Amino acid sequence: MTDPSPLHPGPLHPATRLVHAGQARTPFGETAEALFLTSGFVYSSAEDAEATFQGSLDHYQYSRFGNPTVAMLEERLAAIEGAEACRATASGMAAVHAALLAGLRAGDRVVAARALFGSCHWIVSTLLPRFGIESVFVDGADLDQWRAALARPAKLVLLESPSNPMLEIADLRAIATLAHGAGALVVVDNVFATPLLQRPLTLGADIVVYSCTKHIDGQGRALGGAVLGRKAWIEEVLQPYLRNTGPALSPFNAWLLLKGIETLSLRLDAAGRNAERLAAFLAGEPAVARVWYPTRDDHPQAALARAQMAGGGTLVTFDLHGGKKAAFAFLNALRLIRISNNLGDTKSLVTHPATTTHYRIGAEERARLGIGDGVVRLSVGIEDEADLRHDLAGGLAAAAAGR
Ligand SMILES: *Cc1c(COP(=O)(O)O)cnc(C)c1O
Repeated sequence: MTDPSPLHPGPLHPATRLVHAGQARTPFGETAEALFLTSGFVYSSAEDAEATFQGSLDHYQYSRFGNPTVAMLEERLAAIEGAEACRATASGMAAVHAALLAGLRAGDRVVAARALFGSCHWIVSTLLPRFGIESVFVDGADLDQWRAALARPAKLVLLESPSNPMLEIADLRAIATLAHGAGALVVVDNVFATPLLQRPLTLGADIVVYSCTKHIDGQGRALGGAVLGRKAWIEEVLQPYLRNTGPALSPFNAWLLLKGIETLSLRLDAAGRNAERLAAFLAGEPAVARVWYPTRDDHPQAALARAQMAGGGTLVTFDLHGGKKAAFAFLNALRLIRISNNLGDTKSLVTHPATTTHYRIGAEERARLGIGDGVVRLSVGIEDEADLRHDLAGGLAAAAAGR
């Protein structure tokens, strides 16, 4: 493939990279990214096939190993993150799974923040120990717990910040320093912040993982994931694992994600602005006991959030007086904002974590994470803020009446 007008070499701003980075045009000169919906590739001779498999010829072989459309997405994500390399996967969980399992072996020790996405928690607490890997959980916001857990050697640290659903902030720089002292690689699940609001690699993390299903697609169409990090680790540790276990991203979904990510900056601006205003609105309502939004003054780690993030993001979590009864009355009274456990969409979505996303972890673990029965997680979309506020007001009235 050729691109007769490659990007100029100067540093481009993120909003520009979202639209242009990684595009490899064919000789047809298409405007949009080409969709290579093919499982395999042909060779012009037996010699070329041999040279490709021996590594002396650069040629696509099979879409489980690599595909030109998927490669465009990988290059774009790497350019936005400022990472040396990226590999895309079929889902966010495939990315987390591969980032962990690719380099771990029996006898290793993993330290993770307790507030993890449900399936990430399952991998660390249930899957890893089956293979003789020790796992330890700590409170992500408590540096003393990290320090104690990392006083012994560890192979890997996994955390997310802001966390789901309580939007707890972990001090990425301090944790990375402790982790490196223990010999561990730091893996950050950066889904809630997105690469535009937080770049963990600049704060000391070694590997960043995404569920592209969330803000990167951002329009509720496709599952996808990504792992980003140093070239040597990606090529020598991750790539053999992906190539031989097969969590490959479909070229069609890669193409959707390429088109989705073009508008990430616009969508984040609009949804983030809505989220900040709606958090302020909710904080002033008598039916609401408490609001969490990372960069608000009343967030316990607001200073840290402002220091390591360029904005508070699109999620707002709040606690309603009246527990589950009030929360259900609230959710059922909404007309515009839909009940869904998904997030990062142009459409505003709401969920009751205690009975859905965090049901399986049990009451005791929920209590430890602060996920009360009145807690509601709102993923704010790009609708008109006045309409969203009106819908929330109707929900709050029902919650107050129903409790
Ligand atoms: C959604 C999500 C995942 C999993 O991603 P999928 O694309 O659903 O597999 C992992 N971590 C976080 C923080 C998420 O929100």
